[in-house]
Amino acid sequence: MSWWAATCVALASSTLAGCVAGEPRASEALVETEAPGRSAPSSASPAASEGAAVGVASAVASAPASAAASATPSPAPSPSTARGAPRPIDMHVDTPYQVHFKGRAASLPEGQATSAMLRAGGYEAVVYPIYIPDYLNGGKPRVSDAEAIAKTLDAIVGENPLLWPASRGPAPEGKVLVLQSIEGAGAFADDVEAIDRFVARGVRFVGPVHARDNRLATSATGDAQKKKPGGALGLSEIGERFCERVYAKGALVDVSHMSDASFDGLAELAERVGAPIVATHSNARAVADHPRNLTDAQLRRIAQSGGVAGLNFHAGFLARGREATLDDVVRHAKHMIAVAGIDHVGLGSDFDGATPPADLADASRLPALAAALRKSGLSEDDVHKIYGDNVKRVLAWRPR
Ligand SMILES: [Zn+2]
Repeated sequence: MSWWAATCVALASSTLAGCVAGEPRASEALVETEAPGRSAPSSASPAASEGAAVGVASAVASAPASAAASATPSPAPSPSTARGAPRPIDMHVDTPYQVHFKGRAASLPEGQATSAMLRAGGYEAVVYPIYIPDYLNGGKPRVSDAEAIAKTLDAIVGENPLLWPASRGPAPEGKVLVLQSIEGAGAFADDVEAIDRFVARGVRFVGPVHARDNRLATSATGDAQKKKPGGALGLSEIGERFCERVYAKGALVDVSHMSDASFDGLAELAERVGAPIVATHSNARAVADHPRNLTDAQLRRIAQSGGVAGLNFHAGFLARGREATLDDVVRHAKHMIAVAGIDHVGLGSDFDGATPPADLADASRLPALAAALRKSGLSEDDVHKIYGDNVKRVLAWRPR
């Protein structure tokens, strides 16, 4: 089954069309950043406009067959020269965070992933996270917070003609497909089944934790990992139940931000259900020693599961103790390919949520990265795999 067809099935098989009606929005954002001390929290009001939320099932049903056909990737990518330039499918672009919590206009007049930048970068698709900061409501985020952020995500898509929500079917020529994820799902410990509504509205990757430990799992930057890396604390009982539910509904668990112990627990579960392990935005710890990066053993386990790890452009994850450059992304890519294989590396830029190197400052620079990867010895087919093919493969996964 093609990645797009699987996405359609996942959306159409869901019983609820959305989770955007009548929920209160977060009154004030308390933001924890990707890297400690990165930027000050903002109390700017989130965008409150009604988004272009549509009934998911009906939108998928009405998607034109011709569009579906045109969005299906060629089964045989060879000869690669016939494929044109590689088009990024970026597994983590934090634009909804900027609009919901930092006061950016939903029309995206600024930032690291404006419409003009996505177009210049040749983007095929972005994954927008519904990022639920640990600090909301005095450290107790609620599912209703996720629903409010989802509304903001819809508003962004509604206000930018370049963007095409996956709920409307395959993106026509000239549009950038928007897929969704959740980052920091601790609130769902209150109501595990609430995740169903989010998968129904198009969420494809679900990250149980962000910067802090929560009731589902321990975090790469949480207290448990600091005290005892790889120690006993990891995925909790309710966290395991939550991740089982994510898989049962046809979405994938995102191990980015998980502690090593949580990774191990999730990997066992993924292997049990036959799901690919996905790290949407994580690099190699052997290249830059940061707990947010993946060990070689984790990279191998991702590969064995048929999964993918997305290259993260945040400077603090690319290099330690010095300024990072685009070449550091190439270094991580080469290492990850050497350890996990060319079929298991993708893109997860973290644009609009992190600090990229100056020579990879925004989404328009993706062709420069492709050129650097080619220069490092990768073939055109290899670059296509990293830019999109590998992510399409994991998106095509369906539960047994
Ligand atoms: Zn993140």
